[in-house]
Amino acid sequence: MGRAFVYVILGGGVSAGYAALEFVRRGVSHGELCIISDEPVAPYERPALSKGFLLPEAAARLPSFHTCVGANEERLTPKWYKEHGVELVLGTGVKSADVKRKTLLTTTGETISYKILIVATGARALKLEEFGVNGSDAENVCYLRDIADANRLVNAIQSCPGGNAIVIGGGYVGMECAASLVINKINVTMVFPEAHCMARLFTPKIASYYEEYYKSRGINFVKGTVLSSFDFDSNGKVTDVNLRDGTKISVDMVVVGIGIRPNTGLFEGQLTLEKGGIKVNGTFQSSNSSVYAIGDVAAFPVKAFGEMRRLEHVDSARKSAKHAVSAIMEPDKTGEFDYIPFFYSRVFTLSWQFYGDNAGEVVYYGDLSASGSTFGAYWVNKGHIVGAFLEGGTREEYEAIAKTTRLRPAIEDLNELERQGLGFAVTF
Ligand code: FAD
Repeated sequence: MGRAFVYVILGGGVSAGYAALEFVRRGVSHGELCIISDEPVAPYERPALSKGFLLPEAAARLPSFHTCVGANEERLTPKWYKEHGVELVLGTGVKSADVKRKTLLTTTGETISYKILIVATGARALKLEEFGVNGSDAENVCYLRDIADANRLVNAIQSCPGGNAIVIGGGYVGMECAASLVINKINVTMVFPEAHCMARLFTPKIASYYEEYYKSRGINFVKGTVLSSFDFDSNGKVTDVNLRDGTKISVDMVVVGIGIRPNTGLFEGQLTLEKGGIKVNGTFQSSNSSVYAIGDVAAFPVKAFGEMRRLEHVDSARKSAKHAVSAIMEPDKTGEFDYIPFFYSRVFTLSWQFYGDNAGEVVYYGDLSASGSTFGAYWVNKGHIVGAFLEGGTREEYEAIAKTTRLRPAIEDLNELERQGLGFAVTF
């Protein structure tokens, strides 16, 4: 039993949705394109799960955040896919892939063949068990990667009004969940092994601004240690969290955000991998010319840095999807992807954007001591601006730091850059 398509997108997340829109815009014919996803719903804007989805009132629910609303594009509801002749195979995992035969075998036993495959399998949340701690299955231990996780988290929040939560991990899922829990009137303690939050991106100074703000909202931080075990009650619910430094903390619920791992398993031994992802060229083509990879699972050349990167952010998922489809449909008109990494986050009333690379010397501007203020930083590497961060900017200001990072102006005097601050980007 089987079906054949010209184009198959494996995975039904952010990049799949944006790829589908681009295929339709470029005139794919009815019945040529298929999306296979193990999620039961059409592609949606995953970042909403730690933001609007967790609000105590007027929470975001599907269909309001299907792709591609996050980039102010059309909202692709199941009806949209039907109208455009795109086959959605939902709630169906792919359990094996054969890139030589150009076939995928689904969990329902169907073989789906393709001429061109786009791998958009994203990543999965790392589990505590991978770090030697048991308890992920307890009903009050939550992860957050998909809608099912988000529903479980909402249930956990609702089942302990005014209760105590531990958030394990200080990355953006941990930070955003902690803020959402507080908005839901849950008391939060954050635990992570690093010296400060958002350790991969923030400097200690930037992190301190957010940590102080979080403390002012009642969040406790336990840094420099990790979870060592849970205590459970007779129903298997976690009652206490034991940390490696000997601390024991009573909890009603636990949220775990300890990183992700790209879903490359189906292609190991078949495609070249790099940086934990599927290695692709500047048009997202893998080591097999019929297979492309986009989004979190793809390691692609970032021209501006002169090296391969695998990014775990929504903007690169959207843009890599668009570029790959352009390369597939109009190869002669599509050049190499030229991308400046862009990350953002929104917590409480705060909102930041970051462009480029956090390498080199850091030049700060604005008032980093007052909560609610506008401040930012530039990264200057080998005499050029390579990265820029801004909290609390206007649209024009964010556009200005994006442009400045893209153009990499030479900087001779760091003190002068500091004096000009945001004005440097705005007038550049
Ligand atoms: P995904 O969106 O993860 O989609 C992958 C899809 O593939 C899923 O549907 C999955 O079920 C499916 N799949 C995987 N394997 C198989 C298989 N074998 N068979 C069938 N289907 C399969 N980024 C930001 O820049 N800013 C943010 O504020 C932000 N917030 C976030 C908040 C949360 C809670 C999360 C989880 C992520 C957030 N991100 C954010 C990251 C962003 O959502 C991801 O970078 C983006 O979703 C990546 O898109 P993708 O298509 O590569 O993968």
